[in-house]
Amino acid sequence: MIAYLECFVQENENDAESRPYDVVSGLRGALDLQGTIDCGDAAEQAAKDFGGMNSLAPLALVRPAGAADVASVVRAAANLNLTAAARGNGHSINGQAMADRGLVLDMPAMEDHFQVVRTSSTSGYADVSGGALWEDVLKRCVRDYGMAPRSWTDYLSLTVGGTLSNAGVSGQAFRYGPQTSNVTELEVVTGKGETFVCSEEENSELFFSVLGGLGQFGIITRARVRLQQAPDMVRWIRLVYTEFDAFTRDAESLVTRPHDDGESFDYVEGFAFMNSDNPADGLPSVPLHPDQVFDPTRLPQEAGSVLYCLELARHYRSSDHLSAVDKGVNRLLEGLGFVEGLEFQVDLGYEEFLLRVKQAEEHAKASGIWDAPHPWLNLFVSKSDIADFDRVVFKEILKDGIGGPMLVYPLLCSKWDARTSVVLPEGEIFYIVALLRFTPAYPKGPSCESLVAQNQEIVQYCRKKGLDFKLYLPHYRSQEEWKRHFGNQWSRFVERKTCFDPMAILAPGQKIFPRSNPKP
Ligand code: FAD
Repeated sequence: MIAYLECFVQENENDAESRPYDVVSGLRGALDLQGTIDCGDAAEQAAKDFGGMNSLAPLALVRPAGAADVASVVRAAANLNLTAAARGNGHSINGQAMADRGLVLDMPAMEDHFQVVRTSSTSGYADVSGGALWEDVLKRCVRDYGMAPRSWTDYLSLTVGGTLSNAGVSGQAFRYGPQTSNVTELEVVTGKGETFVCSEEENSELFFSVLGGLGQFGIITRARVRLQQAPDMVRWIRLVYTEFDAFTRDAESLVTRPHDDGESFDYVEGFAFMNSDNPADGLPSVPLHPDQVFDPTRLPQEAGSVLYCLELARHYRSSDHLSAVDKGVNRLLEGLGFVEGLEFQVDLGYEEFLLRVKQAEEHAKASGIWDAPHPWLNLFVSKSDIADFDRVVFKEILKDGIGGPMLVYPLLCSKWDARTSVVLPEGEIFYIVALLRFTPAYPKGPSCESLVAQNQEIVQYCRKKGLDFKLYLPHYRSQEEWKRHFGNQWSRFVERKTCFDPMAILAPGQKIFPRSNPKP
């Protein structure tokens, strides 16, 4: 049957768009899927991603029931000279989970797989499906087992396989590393349609290739995620700074404190904001509760137009006395150089803290800015260049703000495993910078093109000045640019591709390798 389809697709290569129903009905019969395969309107969701800046229609959308379906689809793509893309929750912004006239696998459709194993009273692991949403992993681990993964993203309607294919970074990463440092085993379907269990000990090259591998080497169908005991409560804190060097000094001191004795925060992030009344990125964006007000008279006279905020959290148990929590937090804040009188604190449940962006999502959906285009820019910038970056990017290029959060906080290279496919700047400390634009769609807001151009200006500046940086969630159009991105890791990346996906079937939306067909 596949042989018939092969001829059919080849003969109709230029005509595939006009005859997708024929190909798909043939595939449906040939693949013997436990799940489903659809084309046309039923596959429409796979032609869009977050913010709708790109649109590429697949030939078909497959809803796989399990790893066996994923493997059949990859093998069919190999035989039919098609591409195949795993789609997590489609929260990329540059078409990374799309497959132009290829096969898209809707990973959250996979049958539920969830098992928790305790290895001690305070640790264990969860085996979860590659298409599971992190928010569901959180709820099930905490509610049923009192356990939780150690490393998160800020927003949890993302899939396990999707974030592991990038890195998965939030305020816990300074301590535990990104999410890619917090999985011990994966089940992966490679670009050859073979299924392997892999870990540091078993099929280790595949394991490390896939982590941060931008979907290039295999499709993650199951992940074993490390768990620890979940706290009940979180003290969430924001501290304001007027000077970038005081902000970075304190942020770096907090992320490098030893934490074995419990004398450190459990979460450290930071952001830049405008000294303005703009609710999206000005002074009103800092308080943590509607009852709290940012009193601008507390700012020193010399405060400039860009200010900084350290965002911290400390876990505790509901049985702890609040006075003891206060005492512990005050001890940790001692010696920090924030502006007095501009500290904001709230106590909330652990789940509520981790799901904090969900609330923002609901507001953004109501105002229409969730679905507007999101020309975001995410970078890793070396500590050695972050002051220059601040001087030119935050204080000049972005002096009017971006209408959304501008995250900037330090991470430690030693918490990332160099064997994964992620590339980082040099040195132990580097900063993640995330410019998360939430602006109404043009004509009410600035045009998407102008914001993309501003992102390019920032990247050009970094490049021209020789700053040590890497794009996070990278997006390039030519292989030359990818080569530059991976630098001395490019040959390793190519070798991994040759080994695990030699026909370049997987994740074509990353635009790294063109589909090849080495068959005679
Ligand atoms: P998709 O966008 O669907 O896929 C991303 C890539 O991974 C594609 O190339 C796809 O083919 C591939 N892929 C998907 N599933 C699999 C799989 N099972 N196996 C192999 N490859 C796969 N990132 C952070 O690190 N920290 C954050 O705090 C953070 N916050 C975010 C907040 C919002 C509102 C949004 C929209 C994104 C955020 N991200 C964050 C970025 C996020 O990590 C990426 O969008 C990531 O791609 C995950 O999204 P997804 O699960 O929808 O994957």
